Amino acid sequence: MVRLALAGVHSLVLSPLCARCPHGRAGCCEAPPAVAWADVGRIVLLGGRDFLLAEIREGRLAPQRRGLSIRRVPPSEPLPERCVYLGPSGCVLPPDRRSATCNYYLCEEAFGVAAAAGDPGVRLGRAIRDDLTAHFGRWDIELADRIRERYPEGPPWDGEFLGWLGAELALLVRGARLPPRC
Ligand code: SF4
Ligand code: SF4
Repeated sequence: MVRLALAGVHSLVLSPLCARCPHGRAGCCEAPPAVAWADVGRIVLLGGRDFLLAEIREGRLAPQRRGLSIRRVPPSEPLPERCVYLGPSGCVLPPDRRSATCNYYLCEEAFGVAAAAGDPGVRLGRAIRDDLTAHFGRWDIELADRIRERYPEGPPWDGEFLGWLGAELALLVRGARLPPRC
């Protein structure tokens, strides 16, 4: 069954199939998503500004053109190369410190298995995934424009920049029609 936690921009869409992913031992965490501009802003809004600064200092997150990239660690039996945050029992980060993609993305295979079992949550889960994918994509583009305008030499990756980015994302989220909360 697909498990849904409806929380607007912070929604979770989870499947038990991920623990025995048919695509490999590390599942999606073999290729971690970017922590793109809107993800960075979301983490800041959830109180994670100092977490981000510490992770950048430690080298687990690295500034790049679209925001931050997550470091990968080399293969070690039985796991392939993977996200630095993948521990022996799954992701070591709570949902409010992850890229939103890690929270709402499920592959079609996971939905397909749930649909075959008659799971009534599949339709809403797919709608949330698609809706949040579209929203985060638009916000990333909008935030990239605002960053270029305010920081033509590139963002300084300090506390003030992160606070500003969180506030800009809050403005965008306020004007959006998002998945429901419960
Ligand atoms: S979403 Fe699909 S590909 Fe990703 S871990 Fe789950 S089952 Fe595997
Ligand atoms: S942050 Fe967590 S959920 Fe996301 S790719 Fe890394 S280990 Fe997987």
